Amino acid sequence: MQIRDSIRTIPDFPKPGIQFRDVTTLFGDAQAFRMAIDNLLHPYAGARIDKVAALEARGFIMGGAIAHQLSVGFVPIRKAGKLPGPCMSESYSLEYGEATMELHEGAFKPGERVLLVDDLIATGGTCEAGIKLIRRAGAIVIGSAFIIDLPALGGRERIEALDVPVHILCEFE
Ligand code: IMP
Repeated sequence: MQIRDSIRTIPDFPKPGIQFRDVTTLFGDAQAFRMAIDNLLHPYAGARIDKVAALEARGFIMGGAIAHQLSVGFVPIRKAGKLPGPCMSESYSLEYGEATMELHEGAFKPGERVLLVDDLIATGGTCEAGIKLIRRAGAIVIGSAFIIDLPALGGRERIEALDVPVHILCEFE
C-alpha cells in the first residue's frame, strides 16, 4: 500500500529501543501525500465540518492541507508555552512525567463541528487532551483522523470510549 510504504522507520529514535515512524517521507512524496489527505477525508464526505484542529507538530502539516481542501479554518493545539494569546491547558500523563497541550481561548465558537487530526496515535493521551480542550471551548469533535495507528498501545479504544469516531489509514506493530 503506497501510503504505508512511503513511511520510513528510524530505529532507536528518540531513544534506544523506539522504532520511530517518520512521516516526513510521506509528506515528501506528492502522490502519497495527496492520497493520504484524500483518504483521511473519505468518511467525512458530505459531513458538516466547521473547522479542522491539529496536534503539534506533524499534525499541522496535514491539518493545513485538510482545512484548505474543505475551505474551512484551521486551529493549532500546541505544546505548553508556544501559543502567544490567552490559552486553556490540559495536562496528561506520559510514560515518564507529564505533558501539557494548549488551545487559544476563543479559537472555536460554541457548537462548531471540529475534525481533529494528527500523524500518529499511540496511547491516545495527546488526542484525548485535544478533545478535552475542544469540548471545554464548547465545540463538538465530530471525528479524529490519523495516518498511523500503533494498535498495541490502545489509543483507538481510548478515543472511541470518549464517543469520538477514529479513522486511521495504516498500522505498525
Ligand atoms: P500518544 O499521545 O501516546 O497517542 O502519542 C501520539 C503523539 O506522539 C503524536 O502527537 C505523535 O506525533 C507522537 N509520536 C509518538 N510516536 C511516534 C512515532 O513513531 N512517529 C511519529 N510520531 C510519534
